[in-house]
Amino acid sequence: MQKETMIAENMKKVQDNITQACHKAGRDSEEVTLIAVSKTKPIAMLQEAYRAGARDFGENKVQELMDKILMMPEDVRWHLIGHLQRNKVKYIVGKVFLIHSVDSLRLAEEISREAVKKQVEVNILVEVNIAMEESKFGIGESEAMELVENISKLPGIRIKGLMTIAPFVEDPEQNRGYFHKMKQLAVDIMRKNVDNVSMDILSMGMTGDYMVAVEEGATYVRVGTGIFGERDYSL
Ligand SMILES: *Cc1c(COP(=O)(O)O)cnc(C)c1O
Repeated sequence: MQKETMIAENMKKVQDNITQACHKAGRDSEEVTLIAVSKTKPIAMLQEAYRAGARDFGENKVQELMDKILMMPEDVRWHLIGHLQRNKVKYIVGKVFLIHSVDSLRLAEEISREAVKKQVEVNILVEVNIAMEESKFGIGESEAMELVENISKLPGIRIKGLMTIAPFVEDPEQNRGYFHKMKQLAVDIMRKNVDNVSMDILSMGMTGDYMVAVEEGATYVRVGTGIFGERDYSL
C-alpha cells in the first residue's frame, strides 16, 4: 500500500508541474501527455501506475517491452523510447503505439518492410541528437530534413514528429536552448508540407528537465525516476 500511494502521489505531482509549465507558457495542458518510463521496474509498479491512471508507458529494451506487454491491460499505449536494432524490429511492429527512436533510413526501411508484411501502419518519431553529443543516438539537426523526406516515401510508416534526449545537466535551464531548437526544427519541417509527415508530436523532457521542455513546446514528456524512483541497474 505504501508504494502504491507513492507512485500515485508522484504522478500527481508531475502532472501538476506539467499543468503549471503549460500555464506559464500559455499552453493548454491537454496538449501534453505524460509517459511513465518503467524500464527496469517490476510489473507490480507498472500496475500501480496504471491504477493511478497511467496509460502511456515507455520502455527502452525490446525484450523487456515484449514481456511487459503480455502482463499489462490491453489499453496501455506502449512507447519504445530506446535505441532499436534492425533485427528486433519484427518483434515490435504492430505491438507498440509509437517508436520514438528512428534515426536512420536503414532502420526505417526495416520497419516499413515489416509493416507492409503485417499490413499495419507504424507511427514513428525521428530522433534528433540536438546537442550533437557523441555518446547519443539520433540524427544531426542539419540532416533531419533529408531523413524525414526519405522516410516519408516508405510505405507503412508515418512520421508523427520528433524526439530528443537532451544532455544530462544539473540545471534544466541549460537545456532550454536545445528544446527551443527542437521546436523550431519541427516548425521548419512542418512548413515543407511533406506527404505522410506530421509534426504534431514533440517528445522531449525527462525527470530533470520536463518542465522546461513543456515550456518550450513538448507534447510528450518521458518521466521515469520522477514517478517510480531511482533505477537499480544491478538487479
Ligand atoms: C530512461 C529514459 C527516460 C526517463 O529518464 P528519467 O530521468 O528517469 O526520467 C526518458 N527517455 C529515455 C529515452 C530514457 O531512456
